[in-house]
Amino acid sequence: MLCWQWANISLIPVMALAENASASWLTVPVASIGWAFTVIALAIGLYGWRCHRCSGLVIVFIVALITWRAPKAVNWQVDVLDVGHGLAVLVSKNGKAILYDTGNRWQVGGIAQAVIAPILESRHIERLDGLILSHGDSDHDGGADFIVAQYSPRWRRASEVRSGYKTCVAGQRWQWQGLDFAALWPPEATAPADNNDSCVIRISDGEYSVLLTGDIEREGEANCLHPWAIKRSWTAILCWCRTMAVVLLLRLLLLVR
Ligand SMILES: [Zn+2]
Repeated sequence: MLCWQWANISLIPVMALAENASASWLTVPVASIGWAFTVIALAIGLYGWRCHRCSGLVIVFIVALITWRAPKAVNWQVDVLDVGHGLAVLVSKNGKAILYDTGNRWQVGGIAQAVIAPILESRHIERLDGLILSHGDSDHDGGADFIVAQYSPRWRRASEVRSGYKTCVAGQRWQWQGLDFAALWPPEATAPADNNDSCVIRISDGEYSVLLTGDIEREGEANCLHPWAIKRSWTAILCWCRTMAVVLLLRLLLLVR
């Protein structure tokens, strides 16, 4: 026991030093796939090929320079609210917000009054810019009337045909606060809109993206997400090919020299 206490005490100066040095830390962009391949190039450069280790280091350094991308500052936020059964997601940027789904309602009150309203109040948001209802189940659209009455969203979209709402149909795109919104599902508006008619939205700032899928199930997911996943896979493969081409080219140059 005493041994653990001493081990714990010995870490105190280390943690204090680490805290003071945090300003000088270099943030490595986790999303930068180039860095992942740099690590692979490091392993190959140093141990995989029968070349001088300095050559490997030169390759790694040059590839690191080429693939380095400074991490983009993220200035938007996605909050998946704790609503129990159902969904409510708040997307906010520049002090403005849109809401995706409104949680369930009860005979008196509901999630909108109990959870969403206090959060909007704490963030000083008196009016919503937009409201999206994924589909027509009450654990998702139960608070819609309250939200519309209290927070007058400037625009409203739903996969279900609803009075006062624009449709959410695959292929639609729009911008909000510099973020790109792309509707991936459903192919057409319906009434009523069930789980597999959920309005699936991809929100992206060009680097980071989030997919809001409502209650989509396997059938709808297979139709709407696979083309997107295939596109993402091809992007990763292309990136890998590009990086490896650079590594091979540099290796050849070093051999020729
Ligand atoms: Zn549902």
